[in-house]
Amino acid sequence: MHTIAAISTPNAVGGIAVIRISGSNAFAVAERIFKPFNNKKISDMEGYTCCYGIAHDNNERIDDCILTAFKAPHSYTGEDVIEISCHGGLFISKKILRTALKNGAENAEAGEFTKRAFMNGKLDLTQAEAVMDIISAKSDMELKIAEELREGAAFKKARNCSDKLVKILGDLAAWADYPEEDIPEVEPNQLAEELKTVRNELFSLVENYDAGRIIREGVSTVIVGKPNVGKSTLFNCLAGCERSIVTDISGTTRDVVEESVRIGDIILRLSDTAGIHETQDIIEGIGIGIAEKMIDSSELVIAVFDGSCPCTEDDLKLIDRIKNKKSLAVINKSDAEQVFDSEMIKSKNIPIVYISAKENNIEQLNIAVQNLFKINSEIFSSVPAANERQKRCIEKALESVDNAVNMLKNGEFLDAVTVVIDEAEQYLLELTGEKITETVVNEVFSRFCVGK
Ligand code: GDP
Repeated sequence: MHTIAAISTPNAVGGIAVIRISGSNAFAVAERIFKPFNNKKISDMEGYTCCYGIAHDNNERIDDCILTAFKAPHSYTGEDVIEISCHGGLFISKKILRTALKNGAENAEAGEFTKRAFMNGKLDLTQAEAVMDIISAKSDMELKIAEELREGAAFKKARNCSDKLVKILGDLAAWADYPEEDIPEVEPNQLAEELKTVRNELFSLVENYDAGRIIREGVSTVIVGKPNVGKSTLFNCLAGCERSIVTDISGTTRDVVEESVRIGDIILRLSDTAGIHETQDIIEGIGIGIAEKMIDSSELVIAVFDGSCPCTEDDLKLIDRIKNKKSLAVINKSDAEQVFDSEMIKSKNIPIVYISAKENNIEQLNIAVQNLFKINSEIFSSVPAANERQKRCIEKALESVDNAVNMLKNGEFLDAVTVVIDEAEQYLLELTGEKITETVVNEVFSRFCVGK
């Protein structure tokens, strides 16, 4: 495999930058572009050691750097790896990278270092995916889950299930292939029981998927309501800064403004929208169209009503629009005299909270959000699938195991049951990456950044 190089630190100015080179020629490339001050040969360096020297382009000095050597297989990728830490200027790091490319290395693709770690058996696919989650973690909880996955929690569980399925398949094959031998008969009820334990273990990997996803990605939330009810004021109150324009002229917010806010353990990915009402204003009309679409696509709708005004036709339409969504009805302006009739909202069983966005009194809303998305502390007793790909594999394996159990119950031929159990096993191998198509591998790693 060719030797690859990339800048592994962000594309920004910083204290240091790291250029990573991986592959069988990594040491040879480094030899051509780096001169240690101790005049020793880089190829003689032991793994996990470093030296101080000059990175140069054909003897023209670029920068004083530290070079760290990793010898295969004891490196991130499992190959020989050189990391050059230079001063963190974009020009310097790019120049060192260009020099490495001139001297035998090739540009690394997105995620190629981690892809090589996967190809060389340093990581299974769930662990490789967890690397990305560790990089993008925004909270302690998110980091904790990603680290457990990085340590192989999902892999171990999937492997455990897979081992059990292989044992069952082995028993079935032995019984079917060598009937004349003294092999105990396979008992369908016992087989079904064994499959059920596999089922429960697989289920624990998907049951907390939504809670895990909420911790990782937050809840896509849209704030809607007719003009002037206080949507932007609430948005700013939640976001803690003046992002939306607040005026008392109807229809000020014409685009969608976005912000992530944390309420307890929950991150809301908030969108403030143009007021939803009948309008002749074309620009505002576009904003309203977006708001309508966002009601459909958001996980949580915060519908704001003006407590100081009577309930109008637009309010009723909105209530009707959100009645089947996960939503909260926020009656705003509780500091003013209350005339809004909330009977219609109550009749649709939408939870109601009373707030004053203007006076920053939104405690009821905070509590209601946390109640709606309770993060069960049990999420940590079983690490959930980290992404849709993993979830899909587990669900398919689950479905096959369930089918096998039902087939056993219905007294179907064991040959047919074997095929379905084998199918479950294949999905688990796909989950861990032990049996996977190149397209899926490329898809997984394309989501990484270059240099990782
Ligand atoms: P939007 O059109 O729904 O985004 O409404 P804005 O946030 O722009 O607010 C419209 C008007 O209502 C502004 O004059 C706000 O100061 C006022 N307003 C917002 N929240 C409250 C509140 O809790 N109490 C009172 N009394 N006025 C509010």
